[in-house]
Amino acid sequence: MFQTLIFKRDKKVQKSLLDRRDDFRIKWLNVPGHHWISSNLRILAAFEFVVDSLSHSTLDKFSAHKNEIIFLNTSGLYTLSVTAEAGVDYIVLFPETIELIASSSTAKAASIITHELGHILAGHSPARAKSIEGQMEADHFTSEVGLGNELQDLLLEFRPSEAITKRINHLTVLLTRSNL
Ligand SMILES: [Zn+2]
Repeated sequence: MFQTLIFKRDKKVQKSLLDRRDDFRIKWLNVPGHHWISSNLRILAAFEFVVDSLSHSTLDKFSAHKNEIIFLNTSGLYTLSVTAEAGVDYIVLFPETIELIASSSTAKAASIITHELGHILAGHSPARAKSIEGQMEADHFTSEVGLGNELQDLLLEFRPSEAITKRINHLTVLLTRSNL
């Protein structure tokens, strides 16, 4: 009797946002490949910040993404030799990016992680990811998650270049739109 009731409830009521984030957190951060994240409190805080920023609609995008997403901590000695493995998408983080994540404010660091996730969710090839269009698509996802301001602040600290300026301007447009 009791079980039937629970079953009915589960079918009808959508999981709360907090429960969905918890499911995502456990599934994502507890995999063996992510032990390096939980072993550094600053980096862990940034990843947790990403999870806590996800909405129902951004969580839906991860649900629709079939592959597992693994962030790799590389020493820089191994280049992009690890790209394809069935069922897994790798995000290779080089030492300077890891250093940036560890040294930036938690929200800014979270915006870097979200940008990388944006590349994966958009299905970018390495070449597409490097292109300015690819960068702006990844920035778009960051803005959807609500970390566009943080990413823009971070980009403003970078050495100016044509690509950086384009991304900053693109984020301004996205942020203006989301504030309407
Ligand atoms: Zn990028």
